[in-house]
Amino acid sequence: MIIIMLGAQGTGKGTVAGIVSKETGLPQVSTGDIFRKNISEKTELGIAADKYISSGNLVPDEITVPMVKDRLTWEDAKNGVILDGFPRTIEQAEKLDKMLEEMGQKVDLVVNLVTPREEIIDRMLTRRVCTNQDCKTTYNIKLSPPKVEGICDKCGSQLKQREDDSDPEAINRRLEIYEEKTSPLVEYYDKKGVLSTEKVSVSINRMGIDVANDLIEKLR
Ligand code: AMP
Repeated sequence: MIIIMLGAQGTGKGTVAGIVSKETGLPQVSTGDIFRKNISEKTELGIAADKYISSGNLVPDEITVPMVKDRLTWEDAKNGVILDGFPRTIEQAEKLDKMLEEMGQKVDLVVNLVTPREEIIDRMLTRRVCTNQDCKTTYNIKLSPPKVEGICDKCGSQLKQREDDSDPEAINRRLEIYEEKTSPLVEYYDKKGVLSTEKVSVSINRMGIDVANDLIEKLR
């Protein structure tokens, strides 16, 4: 089963994908996480992607698409994946459709998370991530803080703010890119009949964990 998490930065795609991944066994494939791991390990891919990511721009398709294509061939992906952060443009969605067709698969479900813009900016500024690349647990210092400030509950590593979350210019650029390039995917997948839109907001007391639990029920 191929599930795609759609939604602007800070809506909780990673949180929902992580919970659903644990319950279903489908691996969470986060392009952002793969890039960050490569950046921290200073691989060729990481060095090539770094300048785009730190400035809040999209990494070119020549780098991103083959990386995803390769990831889909891993043994753990044979029953499907939860894509988190890919596709981000119509071109990427078309390339993904082609890739999946070649593999005899298709996109089964697209979960579109929608959060009011003021909340999104606040969530990005208050997001902290575990520096242990094998853990990567995400916290929010207001909504879901760790038990000990600055320390990951799960593995004890240091938490930090993502570089692109601390720079207001990069935040705004990412949100603009989302509006311009990624949001057309909502219609793209709606037309295919696979879209499910979910509101995530403190104003209605519905958080990522609630969406994840409903999704797990639906998939059972
Ligand atoms: P994320 O963790 O999903 O917010 O991604 C962090 C950054 O990685 C983005 O701001 C982009 O620079 C880059 N990135 C992640 N996924 C993609 C993608 N599908 N296409 C291009 N760039 C991406």
